[in-house]
Amino acid sequence: MEYEAVIGLEVHAQLLTKSKIFCGCSTKFGAAPNYNTCPVCTGLPGVLPVLNRRVVEFALRAALATHCEIAPVSRWARKNYFYPDLPKGYQISMYESPLAQHGYIALNLNGQSAGVRLTRIHMEEDAGKNIHDAHSDASLVDLNRAGVPLLEIVSEPDIRTPEEAGTYLRGLRAILQYIEVCDGNMEEGSLRCDANVSVRPRGSTTLGTKVEVKNLNSFRAVEKALQYEIQRQSEMIDSGGRVVQETRLWDADREMTRSMRSKELAHDYRYFPDPDLLPLLVNPDWIDEVKTSLPELPAERRERLMREHSLPVYDAEILTTRKDVADYYEAAVHAYPSDPKTISNWVMDSVLRVIKDEKLDTELRITKWPCPPEHLGALVCLINEGKISGKIAKTVFDEMRRSGKTPEAIVNEQGLTQVRDEGALGAHIDQVLTANPNKVADYRAGRDKLLQFFVGQVMKATQGKANPQMLNELLKKKLSAVSNKHSAPGCITGKS
Ligand SMILES: [Zn+2]
Repeated sequence: MEYEAVIGLEVHAQLLTKSKIFCGCSTKFGAAPNYNTCPVCTGLPGVLPVLNRRVVEFALRAALATHCEIAPVSRWARKNYFYPDLPKGYQISMYESPLAQHGYIALNLNGQSAGVRLTRIHMEEDAGKNIHDAHSDASLVDLNRAGVPLLEIVSEPDIRTPEEAGTYLRGLRAILQYIEVCDGNMEEGSLRCDANVSVRPRGSTTLGTKVEVKNLNSFRAVEKALQYEIQRQSEMIDSGGRVVQETRLWDADREMTRSMRSKELAHDYRYFPDPDLLPLLVNPDWIDEVKTSLPELPAERRERLMREHSLPVYDAEILTTRKDVADYYEAAVHAYPSDPKTISNWVMDSVLRVIKDEKLDTELRITKWPCPPEHLGALVCLINEGKISGKIAKTVFDEMRRSGKTPEAIVNEQGLTQVRDEGALGAHIDQVLTANPNKVADYRAGRDKLLQFFVGQVMKATQGKANPQMLNELLKKKLSAVSNKHSAPGCITGKS
């Protein structure tokens, strides 16, 4: 039987506010355990939570950027459960009346425009962290993270393949980074993803039993875990078994999911409205204000780059994955507007490679660029004006990174300007031809491919500085001149 997967993702995004959601404690990562705590976030009796206005503003930004409807009134709810990292015995979240609903994210799936609908977006507080010490039997609790604001973003089950799930997640992360509410770092846990996945015979419209998969802390983990789970469920049904509704954990080392617990249901949490917090009323003026403050979003920017710079969708997609990368690209094009496509190639091949290798993109904004965008524009200009070859440009780029100098300065200092003087180039060619009489004869006898050999030799002799186009023309001219001079008519037929 052929199966189709039905996937919905639940994402938790840590908001970049300076203080926690219901108290003034810092959200800064890396403090000593339990340093960023107070009676409110450690759940002492008799204290009252006070809502951080900035959290609501960030949530509104995310909701508006994903085309959600904002509820005029939303309510805080207590989600009750016991765990040592949750001293109050409940988490303040939203349940029946979330802040925002009915949104969507526009995506590009294999060149096709597609959308994934959002069920809801709501705010909640994070729990603390349990640390299980391997060297003793002790389990320790760190409450620095307790009360850090989170957005929960729940998608409809519109996703059908692991690749689509990856595209959705990257698209969502890009939006959150563009609007500067979350740094999107999955490895550090500021973006977390749980997946609901079920399978059904292809063509069927009823839903199969779904399994929730947790502990997906990278894009790779999301795609791998879904692949594994789809196969596991399909094989189970094929062998006559039944999929059990449960929560499973992804084990990245063994690349498999394993059962964690039977799936808890909403009523297990005994949700009820939090009596310590008033219903949240969002003034329509505030919504308008936030809406006008939003930047151009990834999907719009992707379309604009394709329109204004005639970029292929592939380029536009990569360049707009991060706002700062798109800004960088546009600044380079601004410095040299004549060739946006070549600049795009340089950003994708060279700039992003360095950023990836040196992990410069772990923060919301890249502050340490391989080179300023104006320098990259100037470099492409030098190539297009024939002053340097594409090959030399790679050397110049490396030097730009090392010294921070402009490409012009580097080319002048190191004498990297292309040899465009016919006399000088001709002399190099003559030397190469004289040194390789046999190859010249072979070329004359019809081995056209040897042209590349001669090009290579001259390039070597000029340390890559020969203008390729001029070199090709001159070389062909000289080779045919040589062949005319030495070959007698009819000698080509000598073999027959
Ligand atoms: Zn606190």
